Amino acid sequence: MYRAPLKDLSFVLNVLLGPQPLSGCPAHAEYSADLADSVLSESARFAEGVLDPINHSGDQEGAHWSEEGVRTARGFREAYQQFIAGGWPQLRAPAELGGQGVPMLLASAAQETWASANLAFKLCPMLTYGAIHALEITASAELKRRYLPKMVTGEWTGTMVLTEPQAGSDLALIRTRAVPQGGDLAVDEFRLFGQKIFITWGEHDLTENIIHMVLARIEGAPEGVRGISLFLVPKVLVQENGELGERNDLRCASIEHKLGIHASPTCVMSFGEHEGALGYLVGEANRGLEYMFIMMNTARLAVGLQGYAVAERAFQQATDYARTRVQGRNSAAPKGVPAPIIHHPDVKRMLLEMKAGTEAMRALTLYTAWQLDLAEAHADPAARALAQAQADLLIPIVKGWCTEFGVELASLGIQVHGGTGYIEETGAAQWLRDVRITAIYEGTTGIQANDLLGRKLARDQGAAMMSLLTQIETELSAAAGSGAVQAVQAEALAAVKGLREATVKLLAIGAAAPERALAVAVPYLMMCGVVLGGWLMARAAKLVSADAAPAHQEFNAAKLATAHAYAGQLLPRALAYRQIVVYGADSVAGADAALI
Ligand SMILES: Cc1cc2nc3c(=O)[nH]c(=O)nc-3n(C[C@H](O)[C@H](O)[C@H](O)COP(=O)(O)OP(=O)(O)OC[C@H]3O[C@@H](n4cnc5c(N)ncnc54)[C@H](O)[C@@H]3O)c2cc1C
Repeated sequence: MYRAPLKDLSFVLNVLLGPQPLSGCPAHAEYSADLADSVLSESARFAEGVLDPINHSGDQEGAHWSEEGVRTARGFREAYQQFIAGGWPQLRAPAELGGQGVPMLLASAAQETWASANLAFKLCPMLTYGAIHALEITASAELKRRYLPKMVTGEWTGTMVLTEPQAGSDLALIRTRAVPQGGDLAVDEFRLFGQKIFITWGEHDLTENIIHMVLARIEGAPEGVRGISLFLVPKVLVQENGELGERNDLRCASIEHKLGIHASPTCVMSFGEHEGALGYLVGEANRGLEYMFIMMNTARLAVGLQGYAVAERAFQQATDYARTRVQGRNSAAPKGVPAPIIHHPDVKRMLLEMKAGTEAMRALTLYTAWQLDLAEAHADPAARALAQAQADLLIPIVKGWCTEFGVELASLGIQVHGGTGYIEETGAAQWLRDVRITAIYEGTTGIQANDLLGRKLARDQGAAMMSLLTQIETELSAAAGSGAVQAVQAEALAAVKGLREATVKLLAIGAAAPERALAVAVPYLMMCGVVLGGWLMARAAKLVSADAAPAHQEFNAAKLATAHAYAGQLLPRALAYRQIVVYGADSVAGADAALI
């Protein structure tokens, strides 16, 4: 049974990020700790009461394909109706569109509860929000008028349609064709022809319409990424008065049988088997990839969040199991009497790693969401620019680290269960199966690391990273409270210094031979995650040790112990990553692929 970690979410939002994290943002003048807590307690209620109960059954049953369409697993339609009735699709959308316009910070925290409770379900609104966001920024007034209102209410869902069999990480290879049509003069009409694969929630029975955001190449457009445009392609055509018309020429040809997220239909989509699927150009021709990145940036943050949200779930289940499973002897029980496994030092280690890792990932992800809020809404342009630079830098780290580490922690959850964890009935295996995809979709870890090095570090020669590290060093060098806090801070500070050295070295390697730097890009990304997580855990330790409120005592003691475990068990990984980054490039770059 899932229990939303409301205390930790509230701690991150209301304490870790400062007392009034959005005070510089006039658009979020109404945001307060009370508002955040009340939204989160409602989202937790929905996650625990509606999404959690259909998670295991959804995994077992999966989605069903037929020529008529895709039928979702039992309970999903009803859950989606409740999602709409609760106003959840509007949470993040701006007020002008009928949304509630809550900050990314709060929307992300709410999303965590849904992702932990039912990752397969959560993907559907996540993609819809991404489509709304892209349309809001790039589409014409007419397209917005026709499509956005029903997407904002959740009556229609949205998708992200990029991948083709020959075009995965490399979208320059997209072949789907768009032929100008010129019928409806209010919008740029095209007919689309092509096949897309792996489209999440590409077809389903939750809503009467699905709005696909499709990347395709207008006939005669340049080769490569500069010839790709973005199209809005509805499943059912929408008339000028907003009423639904005929079915468009697109269909779901099949759905994939896959390792996890069984209740989320992963669709092969066929566009234009007859006259061509009617699609409307979004924004300007040949700028599709640039527009899609608007969606991808928030989606990448949301996928990083999924990595630790599933780890949280795995942690909860493993802890419950370890408290009740009696096996072997340890100091917790009288001599000769078997005791719960949670008291074995190694089981404690595994659970502490899961808890500390998850809390660090939550802190870093919500910190990044906050930077996006500041970048969008801060009154001071200089503060906006600084926050944008940090968010740009942190998003690939959040996506790559939180998903890879989430997979590791979900696997550890199985280990805590022993053989029982490997058996499907327990449910522990589902977390590992579900979370595995998070390190692949929205750009694999390798692609995130390339982005971190090739774009985020290279474009300013590491200036944004160095400025963040300086900010952290100043913070961690300030006097701490008790000895325990000082120890955590000292470990975190040493790790930050190591990251600075590794960054300088990597920039030098990259300047001389980019291939060599790319060979250690993923270890560098992982180092960034581990170290930045350590910084925020050290900050948490300092804050809780200064808080003497009796009501917070239990939480504060647990947080201090978790920060200590992070510093002792996880932060030392930074040393190994540093060695790989500084000395390991040649062992890969110099190796002949033929010898592998
Ligand atoms: C369940 C599921 C849901 C999905 N949902 C969607 C969706 O809704 N919409 C959508 O459009 N797509 C979706 N995808 C597709 C997903 O985004 C791609 O699978 C992913 O981007 C990787 O592409 P690929 O599978 O072609 O792998 P490839 O690109 O072939 O990559 C294979 C390996 O090579 C590595 N690699 C490739 N290029 C480089 C490089 N330049 N540098 C270093 N390493 C590299 C990769 O990291 C990976 O390890 C989904 C996929 C799955 C499985």
